[in-house]
Amino acid sequence: MSNAERTQPIILIVEDEAPIRRLLSALLASKGYRVITAQTAAEARIRASETPPDLLILDLGLPDEDGMELLRRLRSWLSAYVLVLSARTLEHEKVLALDEGANDYLTKPFGSAELLARIRVGLRATTATGVTHAVQVFDGLRIDHDARNVCVDGRPVQLTPLEFRLLFELARHAGKALTHRHLLMHVWGAGAVGRNHYVRVCMANLRAKLGDDPAQPRWIQTLPGIGYRMVAQDESDA
Ligand code: CA
Repeated sequence: MSNAERTQPIILIVEDEAPIRRLLSALLASKGYRVITAQTAAEARIRASETPPDLLILDLGLPDEDGMELLRRLRSWLSAYVLVLSARTLEHEKVLALDEGANDYLTKPFGSAELLARIRVGLRATTATGVTHAVQVFDGLRIDHDARNVCVDGRPVQLTPLEFRLLFELARHAGKALTHRHLLMHVWGAGAVGRNHYVRVCMANLRAKLGDDPAQPRWIQTLPGIGYRMVAQDESDA
């Protein structure tokens, strides 16, 4: 195996629909990724243990087992970035999948540019050390985690501790969809789960202070029925 082959990211596609599987496989191979495919949950478990992937594309509707159950089992030992594919009619599935350890989702049908962009974000996340950089920069938004200060276009922004924690949680998972449940668990604590209005109110205040327009967000996107996503960090600072 050449050096180039060894460093190619490995992507496992778990999808029972042959046309979609073939399309994804050809697209990703053409971009230089090493592609492994599985049609069923049982096959996915074998493939993943033979060749642990860097990124997993998982269709939730599998013939032999619920994709969610497969995700739960793989998550106990596999650290790959998980991108879930879901039908538009099954919005609630995505929230469950994110809570079970998926990192992001795409709704079918999706464009190849969108898929490739999400894959790049995912692979950047897995090659990162897992430690949040002390300073993160997102298109004019600078977050200094150690000094706990935030600047927008060079102007300091005063945040409450709760607003800072919410921004911190979004920033350290930049590029990933975070559910209301995730944010409540990690910012407010397990006791707050279900109180989605906590997130809405705090988010509104945070956005107002940052000057981020929810209708045309510069940094924090609203994912209706799911939660929020912070844009990916500027490449030069990653
Ligand atoms: Ca399917």
